[in-house]
Amino acid sequence: MTLAALAGGLLYLDRYRESLIGSELWSLTVQAQIVAEALGEAAVTSDVGEGGDYLTAMARPLVRRLAGPLGLRVRLFAANGDLIADSLSSSVIGGPVTVQPLAPPATSARGPLDLLLDFYEWAIELMPNKDSYPPYSESSPPVAGDFEEAIYALRGEPRAEVHINARDDLVLSAAAPVSRYKQVLGAVVVTKDGYDIEDSLRRVRLDILQVLAIVMAMSVMVSLYLAGTIARPVRRLAAAAKRVGHGQGRKVAIPDFSRRSDEIGDLSAALREMTDALWTRMDAIERFAADVAHEIKNPLTSLRSAVETVARIEDADQRRKLMAIIMDDVKRLDRLISDISDASRLDAELSRAESEPVDLAGILAALADIHAATVNDGGPRLIYEPAVDAASDLFVEGIESRLVQVFRNLLGNAVSFSPPNGEIRLRVWRDGRWIKATVEDQGPGIPEDKRKAIFDRFYTERPKGEKFGTHSGLGLSISRQIVEAHRGRIWAENIYDAPTADCGAVRGARFTVELPAATKAQIGKAAGKPTLGGAGD
Ligand code: ADP
Repeated sequence: MTLAALAGGLLYLDRYRESLIGSELWSLTVQAQIVAEALGEAAVTSDVGEGGDYLTAMARPLVRRLAGPLGLRVRLFAANGDLIADSLSSSVIGGPVTVQPLAPPATSARGPLDLLLDFYEWAIELMPNKDSYPPYSESSPPVAGDFEEAIYALRGEPRAEVHINARDDLVLSAAAPVSRYKQVLGAVVVTKDGYDIEDSLRRVRLDILQVLAIVMAMSVMVSLYLAGTIARPVRRLAAAAKRVGHGQGRKVAIPDFSRRSDEIGDLSAALREMTDALWTRMDAIERFAADVAHEIKNPLTSLRSAVETVARIEDADQRRKLMAIIMDDVKRLDRLISDISDASRLDAELSRAESEPVDLAGILAALADIHAATVNDGGPRLIYEPAVDAASDLFVEGIESRLVQVFRNLLGNAVSFSPPNGEIRLRVWRDGRWIKATVEDQGPGIPEDKRKAIFDRFYTERPKGEKFGTHSGLGLSISRQIVEAHRGRIWAENIYDAPTADCGAVRGARFTVELPAATKAQIGKAAGKPTLGGAGD
């Protein structure tokens, strides 16, 4: 921007200077003509004068008097080219000629901008576009032949020229013929230094420089503002992100710019959220590893003591018992490890798998059919009660195999907690923009204070008689993980035989799964394909 202003200024200056020179030359020519006319009228005689020409002695004082108010140097040359009068010389023709130098330019007090101006002028000097005016030189005493314009004037043609003197300053000069009755008797040469022009140029340059200084100050201020409000915060965020990346852990605080309602604020908030999420995940992984180690340790300890004892025991009966314990421990370990591997793959799989519209009613109907086909004698009866509009409207957006896994697990638990010949009720219906499904059994229910804890990893609390080692305590935790990944909820409650919990007895447990209903557009895609996925608990 500053450079553009400078280039624009230079271009403008060049044209401005040209036009100044043009108008000065024009006015100089007019002035030369006026002086020539005046001389032609007042200082010409019809007789040849003492100098051999027609110009009288009147010409010399007239030249001086005319030059005075004009502030110009006026010289009068005779037709033969000799100098007759010079407004700067007080001598007469034939005597010594004293040429007074032109007045130097008025030097004003130099301000701080002048230094800049000097530099600016020096820079302009370096530019290739230099003046190509002829040099100004005159012999002593000068003759008309020294000035090209005077030669033209002596031929009857007014003319103006620009010269450059020895100090590289402009000298403007105009010549006009002094004539009487069409006869050229001499030539008037009017010269003027270029200080006026240089002065106006200097003033314009100062103006341009002031504009430039303002523009530069503004760009510096804008740069400082941008650096302070954008570059520095972004650098701080980047440095913090780098420190997190280099593993400096939780000590790294991501700068908080969230109060700024701009992109930097958004970026800082997003980075903070991202690191928080990262730490939450890391914590979960650490906890998971610790839980897994703890859970595996129990059967391993039991296994070790059983194996140690079995080596020392002779009694075949006791040995058999111990071998059965060892077998159970091994089964438990096996079960644990396959559940753990399933749970640890779950996150990655949930984020990778493509979700699609899933017909929940279809899944539950198929599970009910499978149950009916496989239930043992005395096993619980499964009653499937879909809502009336089930076939058309009970779709959710998700991963079918994982949703099947959730209901298999709930049904499995319900079956294991059901009394002989008990009933399990499976319901599904639409509640606004949610699809809800419940699994109810007639078992012992869940202790009120454990309603949340049963969803914790490795929480398992089974009746004494149940076969040891078949339950890892991961089923409900995995189910909750799946449901939450589908942006839904799962909870457990007891069924009481009275309207309120405090005045009734527990009749069983109810597990509810709530999932967002798929939109009409999503359902359209999945018309008629309820199949069961393979994953199970
Ligand atoms: P697991 O079945 O391996 O024990 P789950 O995570 O599936 O693990 O269940 C955790 C615990 O929740 C069970 O051990 C049990 O105490 C309780 N629970 C689950 N389902 C029911 C149910 N239908 N009735 C009563 N308690 C239940």
